[in-house]
Amino acid sequence: MKKDFFTTPMTSLTATLCDFAGVQPPEFAAPVCGELKNALISQSGVDRVDRILMYNPDAVADYIYDRYYDKFAPCEKIAPVRQRFITVYPPKTPVCFASMYTGAQPEKHGITKYEKPVVKIDSVFDAFIRAGKKPCIVSVKNQSMDKIFRGRDMAYYQEAYDQEVVERALELIEKDEYDLICVYNQSYDDSMHRTHPNSKRSQRALDLYASSFLKLGEKVNTCWQKHDTLIGFAPDHGVHRMLIGLGNHGSNIPEDMNISHLYGIIPKKA
Ligand SMILES: [Zn+2]
Repeated sequence: MKKDFFTTPMTSLTATLCDFAGVQPPEFAAPVCGELKNALISQSGVDRVDRILMYNPDAVADYIYDRYYDKFAPCEKIAPVRQRFITVYPPKTPVCFASMYTGAQPEKHGITKYEKPVVKIDSVFDAFIRAGKKPCIVSVKNQSMDKIFRGRDMAYYQEAYDQEVVERALELIEKDEYDLICVYNQSYDDSMHRTHPNSKRSQRALDLYASSFLKLGEKVNTCWQKHDTLIGFAPDHGVHRMLIGLGNHGSNIPEDMNISHLYGIIPKKA
């Protein structure tokens, strides 16, 4: 079955997050995603939030999301708005995250292949800092999300692996010191490269993504009751299976370029 490319650009996410936070978007960000904005407002009745929690699970393709929908269905209770995006080319981790958080195309932010230099152009983190807000990134040490947004006056938490990242994020939600928390996990990406996108091991990694997102959502529900919170499940790119059998990504094909994000707004409890 031939799939089509999605058409809504992932680069429209950046300005959308800023719009909900009441922050001027970064310099090169693509316009707000009206579809996502409207869906979130009708879901929650809220058009302004004071907390954003972004969970970034690496490499969950749109078709993988559908194939293992049973795993992810509980996540939609927390984040009921499913937004289909086309990511940027080449669909490689640092390229995509640089675009996700600057709203700019790769040629603009400068990461056009698998390398992890610091992004020099304006990002959502710079935009939040200018607005007097506190962002932070919690990532597996030395991964793209740990490295490419360095050099800003903000907090970076480097952890050993996914579980430690989630533990740290849960602790940070409880402490309630940050306005924007980005949480990066990678076990599915690791697993599908070593095996394939549907291996038992890869499926366990997807289970871990889903359960981690649920934990984060539950923590927000208990600890951020006095805040309006936008919560997101936001992978960077998809995945396909190569002829030799291993999983890979980086091609201009729907399997690699089409992603589904989940969003929800959890309004404050009076
Ligand atoms: Zn990736």
